[in-house]
Amino acid sequence: MALIVQKYGGTSVGSIDRIKSVAKRVIDTYKQGNQMVVVLSAMAGQTDGLIELAKKVTQDPDPRELDVLLSTGEQVSVALFAMAIKSMGYDARSLLGFQVGIHTDKLYGKARIHQIDTKRIKEELEKGRIVAVAGFQGLDEDGNITTLGRGGSDTTAVALAAALNADICEIYTDVDGIYTTDPNICPEARKLDVISYDEMLEMASLGAKVLEIRAVEFAKKFNVKLHVRSSFKEEGGTMVVPETKDMEKVVVSGVTYNKNEARVTIKRVPDKPGIAAKIFKPLFDAGIVVDMIIQNTSEDGYTDMTFTVPKPDFKKSIQLVEKVAKEIGAEKVLGDENIAKVSIVGVGMRTHAGVAQKMFETLAQEGINILMISTSEIKISCVVEEKYTELAVRVLHRAFGLDKNQ
Ligand code: ASP
Ligand code: MG
Repeated sequence: MALIVQKYGGTSVGSIDRIKSVAKRVIDTYKQGNQMVVVLSAMAGQTDGLIELAKKVTQDPDPRELDVLLSTGEQVSVALFAMAIKSMGYDARSLLGFQVGIHTDKLYGKARIHQIDTKRIKEELEKGRIVAVAGFQGLDEDGNITTLGRGGSDTTAVALAAALNADICEIYTDVDGIYTTDPNICPEARKLDVISYDEMLEMASLGAKVLEIRAVEFAKKFNVKLHVRSSFKEEGGTMVVPETKDMEKVVVSGVTYNKNEARVTIKRVPDKPGIAAKIFKPLFDAGIVVDMIIQNTSEDGYTDMTFTVPKPDFKKSIQLVEKVAKEIGAEKVLGDENIAKVSIVGVGMRTHAGVAQKMFETLAQEGINILMISTSEIKISCVVEEKYTELAVRVLHRAFGLDKNQ
């Protein structure tokens, strides 16, 4: 007998028929003698719909009340699901975040889980019940409802799996698993059988939106084995697990891209102590997350500084930087929204030489100009013109032996 935590995303519970088929699937696993805790998201589109409702009342909804509203989406799913299970002759209980005892901090809309009580869930499991838990929600220490941020049901599931010391946490979604790259732009993409937490974190933060980043961080911290798989198919998906020695044999596990950044350059910045601090302070104060930063070496006491920001923050960033540029006596500020970041990811990079060189040569052969480069232990990223994104992804995928029939 195993204790299994399963999580079904919005599309998997997107209609009554789908809720019924999820119920059947859960019952099948339960019948094999397993204890089942099932975390559900709101039905597809519901959370967006609730946000729209709030916006009809006011453009700036009160954060506490917004969380009260948004948490109802998951309440609907767990209730319908538990009804479905019961109608099929099995016993189930739906529980909301506060009933379980999912304790969070007070940050409405992006609360973090501090602690989870397992008593109630364990009691229900001992009675032989299937337990349905509303994802994405918790309670702060003053008894207010909080939500965990978009996609937060993944985190609920992983946190529950950790707290209950579950044998596995299965994340059911509308894709088969984690792919070597985005199959929509590269038909040669392959499903990975296994990937390490760190690779998954890099892939997720670079735009492979299958798993919420926080959930992967949680899984890594508490060693929760994740299985990402399709709710529409029987076959297995991708295991997200601690790194093993074997994984280093594969140099590159995936190629990702991100079109959601823009580039800002400040020309002829006086090269003196404190300048970087001055340039980035207003951006930091405005909550703008700066990603890559490059500073050229200066020849005549002046240097160019280039960095990337999220596209939605581009205009604001330019305004803020133009102001500082004047103050510090820089020449001018340039911006470019038509860029993309293409990255290769793999734990094997740690033990293989020449990986970056191969990436640069591959792009050069296609005449793709590299605008910026950044590297970390298991990732190399190049910023290129946006129009080359798809081409860059495909040629890198092939060059690093990831194509289906290679
Ligand atoms: N319903 C929430 C959302 O749409 C949480 C989730 O689905 O994980 O973001
Ligand atoms: Mg999701």
